[in-house]
Amino acid sequence: MARSQKNWIIIPTELIGSLPRAAELVEAQRAHKYGELSTNRLTFLQEKDIRHVLRDLARTGSLQLTDGELTKPSFLNYPIYDLAQYNYSFDGKNITTITYADGHRRCLPQLIKSPFRYSTFAVKYLRAAQKYTLRPLKQAVAAPSVLSLVYNGETIKNYSREQFLNDLIDEAEKDVRQCLEAGADKVQLDFAKARLSLKMDPSGNLLKEFIDINNRMLDRFNEEERKKLGVHVCSGNDRGSTHSADVDCSRILNELFQLKLNNFYLQMTTELDPDSILSLIGKLIKPHHRVFIGVINPRDLHVETSEIVRDRVLTAAKYIPIEQLGTTDDCGFSPYNDNELITREKCYEKIRARVEGTKLAEEILNLSMQKIRWI
Ligand SMILES: [Zn+2]
Repeated sequence: MARSQKNWIIIPTELIGSLPRAAELVEAQRAHKYGELSTNRLTFLQEKDIRHVLRDLARTGSLQLTDGELTKPSFLNYPIYDLAQYNYSFDGKNITTITYADGHRRCLPQLIKSPFRYSTFAVKYLRAAQKYTLRPLKQAVAAPSVLSLVYNGETIKNYSREQFLNDLIDEAEKDVRQCLEAGADKVQLDFAKARLSLKMDPSGNLLKEFIDINNRMLDRFNEEERKKLGVHVCSGNDRGSTHSADVDCSRILNELFQLKLNNFYLQMTTELDPDSILSLIGKLIKPHHRVFIGVINPRDLHVETSEIVRDRVLTAAKYIPIEQLGTTDDCGFSPYNDNELITREKCYEKIRARVEGTKLAEEILNLSMQKIRWI
C-alpha cells in the first residue's frame, strides 16, 4: 500500500542512556583504581568502548544514540563524585539510604563543606561521544531534585538550605544548558527518585518539593529549549532489582506532568494495569507533551519480540494521540555501570526489537488513519 508521506506520522524511539561496559573496560577501570593502569591508557580504552557502542547502536536502527554512560561513575553521582572524599561525609544520621527489593542498599553522602558545586558537568560525556558520530545524541543528566537530598540545611554554619538550593539550581542549569549549547538532540533529567519519594514520604510532600526544585531550574529555559528537555521516571534498576516497584505509578503522574518540559520517558512494561495508567496519562497530557512509553524491560533476560513491542505501542495509542507518542526502554540497561546480568549483545537485540516493533505499530496506525481519511 502506498504511503502518503505528507501525512505520515513518525513515532520516535529513544534509549534512556546506559549500557553495560565491555569486560575489557570493567577490568581497566579496576586496574586504574588500584594504580595498575595509567590514566592515558584508561582514557584510550574508554574512547575505544564509546566508539564501539556508537557503531553498534547505529546498527540496531536507532536514529538517536547515547554514549552508553560508559564513563560516568553512576547516572546520579557524577556531578559530585570527584568531591566525595573532600566535601562529603558517608557517616551520620542524615545519610539518605535507598533499599532495593533484593535487600542491597545505596546511599547518598551528606555535604559537610560549602558551597555546593558540581565538579563534573555532563557536557564532558557528550563531547567525548560527538567526536565519533554525526548522529543526534541524547545526554542524560541528574535531576537537581535527587541531589537536593545531600544537604538539609542544618549542619554547615552560615549555609542555609535556601543558599544550598540556589547553588544547586545554578549548577544544574549549567549542566543542562551546556549540553544544549553543545548540540545535544535531547537532554533528559533522570528523576528516578520520583516514585521512591512516596515511599520516603507517603504524604506526597517530598514529591511536591522535588517537582518544585526541578521547576525552579526548568523556569530558566524558554519554550524552544524545553522542546529538547525530557524527564525519565522509573522504579529503579540496579543489579536487576528495583527500589519502588510497589509504589502505584498513577500516584505520581499528576505531579509529574506539572514539570515544565516537553518529553516524558516512562516505565510501563512491568505495570500491573498499564491500561489504567495509559488512560490517566491520556487525560493529563497537554498538547505540547510527548510521552515515550517503556516497551522493553531491561531487567528481563528474555529478549522481547518486535510483535510484543508493536502490541504495546498499539495499546498505548488507544489512549495517547500518535502525534504525542514515542517509545523507550523502561530504564537504562546499566545505570550504576555494574550490571553484568545482561550482556551488551542482548541489550542490542532488545533495542533492535524496540526499533522494529515501533515501526510496525507506526505502519498500522498510519495506514488505519489513511483508510479513515479515504472513506
Ligand atoms: Zn530508570
